[in-house]
Amino acid sequence: MFTKILIANRGEIACRVIKTARAMGILTVAVYSDADKNAMHVQMADEAVYLGGSPSRESYLLSQKVIDAALLTGAQAIHPGYGFLSENSEFCRLCEQNNIVFIGPPIGAIEAMGSKSAAKNIMQQANVPLVPGYHGDDQSMAVIKQAADDMGYPVLLKATAGGGGKGMRQVWSEKEFKSEFEAVKREALSSFGDDRMLVEKYLTQPRHVEIQVFCDNHGNAVYLFERDCSVQRRHQKVIEEAPAFNMSPELRAKMGESAIKSAQAIGYQGAGTVEFLLDIDGSFYFMEMNTRLQVEHPVTEMITGQDLVEWQLRVAANETLPKTQQELSIQGHAFEARIYAEDPDNDFLPATGHLQFLQAPAESKHVRVDTGVRQGDDVSVFYDPMIAKLIVWDENREKALQRLTKALMEYRIQGVTTNIDFLHNLASCEAFKNEDIDTGFIEKNHDEIF
Ligand code: ADP
Repeated sequence: MFTKILIANRGEIACRVIKTARAMGILTVAVYSDADKNAMHVQMADEAVYLGGSPSRESYLLSQKVIDAALLTGAQAIHPGYGFLSENSEFCRLCEQNNIVFIGPPIGAIEAMGSKSAAKNIMQQANVPLVPGYHGDDQSMAVIKQAADDMGYPVLLKATAGGGGKGMRQVWSEKEFKSEFEAVKREALSSFGDDRMLVEKYLTQPRHVEIQVFCDNHGNAVYLFERDCSVQRRHQKVIEEAPAFNMSPELRAKMGESAIKSAQAIGYQGAGTVEFLLDIDGSFYFMEMNTRLQVEHPVTEMITGQDLVEWQLRVAANETLPKTQQELSIQGHAFEARIYAEDPDNDFLPATGHLQFLQAPAESKHVRVDTGVRQGDDVSVFYDPMIAKLIVWDENREKALQRLTKALMEYRIQGVTTNIDFLHNLASCEAFKNEDIDTGFIEKNHDEIF
């Protein structure tokens, strides 16, 4: 096992990784920007190295500076967290060249999943079901439109280089095609520097169900069941839960095995998530694979009793997976709510400010709070304004949901506008209780939530 690792991230995920490293007796090195000089992750780590200015491109995104920090402190491995350099194959390559272990998948796997259309090609060959559509090289409007006309509307245009819910547009009829096509092209070019796109049948009431997979360097692969992330706003997750409701053991096994097949098709190692759309008729389709530890990984930890960061460290150190498929099981039910500094009454505009008062609900075996800020800290304009992830667990969905609404009520934050009331309204919705949930949930229940 490593004796020292560097965490190339900030905020809650940096703190989360440090916790597990410390429990395993591994020393930690934090990195930081001007804005983060006194940040919680810096205080928690054994050592810290200054990177540069507050904007990420002057600090957390500077690959060479991060590598230099690892070399300077003698860190043997780098945990990238999520975002920043976590899915950057150039950064992986730099790690390799400097004999530093990248705690994540091999370069080839990151590259294979970096483009939505390339990923679909690979999955097609591996016989993983795909949403019907066109993801070819010919990018002329005529060809893409023909594919849409043939499938029938509505369709979804997606930037192949897209992510984070950006560069995606629904087209409801042939008439709208041209203007939406041009809009996606523009957005894709400005956000991702790549204007290629694919077109898919737009499913009108799907659920987003994703499978957590893990592979080691010795040919073993397991799935740690699923998470339902259907509650989304603008294609971004708001509340996640595990296990997914209304899943038969057969469907769970089928999706799990498909996810493993997807991972193996690209020679995967480490933690990965295979995202599927689950249609009302029980068919499921591969959407994409995320080659990192995801924001919502704690709900999986709560229902399996496993520490996924520990698994990542063990796999990166060439150990075998801590458990076999037969040894893994689901206990109870977990929810995660993403607590954000943002204004639900003003189109969810990110909010900034000084956390004058901050009191999270008390932690217990039922309540977990993953955060990277303390009372007195600032929420700045420079980074994602997530304040914390509130995670709750209980023996069944109903009880876990009661824990969630109670914990949300106990959360006290002053100084910064937050989405806590919005989350509470959402979790209290009849339809949420009744599992009447698909990706259109927030829109459909707008009046009750706002
Ligand atoms: P990103 O990489 O930007 O997160 P994804 O491809 O993962 O984009 O899709 C994000 C969300 O968009 C999904 O969780 C789902 O809600 C919606 N979505 C994606 N593809 C489809 C589709 N074909 N039909 C309906 N909804 C879709």
